[in-house]
Amino acid sequence: MDAGVGVVRQLAHVGLTVGDIDIVFFTHLHDDHTAGLPALMTFRHTMRRGPLRLIGPTGTTALRDGVLAFMNANTAIRGQEGRMVNPATLFDASDVEPGIIYSDASGLTVTAVENTHYALTEFVSPQKSFALRFDSPDRSIVFTGDTGESRAVERLAEGADILVSEMVTEADVAMVPTPVQAHMRAEHLSPAQVGQLAAAAGVAVVVLSHYTHASPDDLASIREQFSGQVIAGEDLVSL
Ligand SMILES: [Zn+2]
Repeated sequence: MDAGVGVVRQLAHVGLTVGDIDIVFFTHLHDDHTAGLPALMTFRHTMRRGPLRLIGPTGTTALRDGVLAFMNANTAIRGQEGRMVNPATLFDASDVEPGIIYSDASGLTVTAVENTHYALTEFVSPQKSFALRFDSPDRSIVFTGDTGESRAVERLAEGADILVSEMVTEADVAMVPTPVQAHMRAEHLSPAQVGQLAAAAGVAVVVLSHYTHASPDDLASIREQFSGQVIAGEDLVSL
């Protein structure tokens, strides 16, 4: 889910290759969630792996097309070597609306709701940002995506086994340029808001993501609201 910068290296760290991924679901198209896609796509093409599906909000197909344009120079050179397929045939992109956006024979269902990541400041965007719920026969995992407070996300997360929640702390806000700080405060979740969301949704476990700096006070703010398990997420954490 999502393809942030470094995704190819991170796959390698867990013993996977670019060819082991079948689908990328995008929560939204901010660059910290998409900057790894060019590497994922071009190395997959160079390594002659099979088709990859990209599923996300409006703009996902345009993103795919932009990456294909980036790939042209490499494709032209390697095409002279007579061993490249047309990359446009390898990458299927779907711009989807909230609702059930994927299901398969294994019993996996993926549901998207629109969250408030673009909706709580004066800079209202026509783009959509999703929270995603993955229901399989043995577990349910909800990813908030990037979001501010949202009843839709709360409902989506009801009863989930695991809630992977974004969080932005005051220390994180202080790191970004001043014009971005209003967005960071309003359209992300503070530690207390993460705790409120987890408690209201009645989830068993919260895994924190997106934050850079979390102090003991930040974690205490979550636990004041939520009595379940809180895991401070980090790269390559596994449950
Ligand atoms: Zn974002």
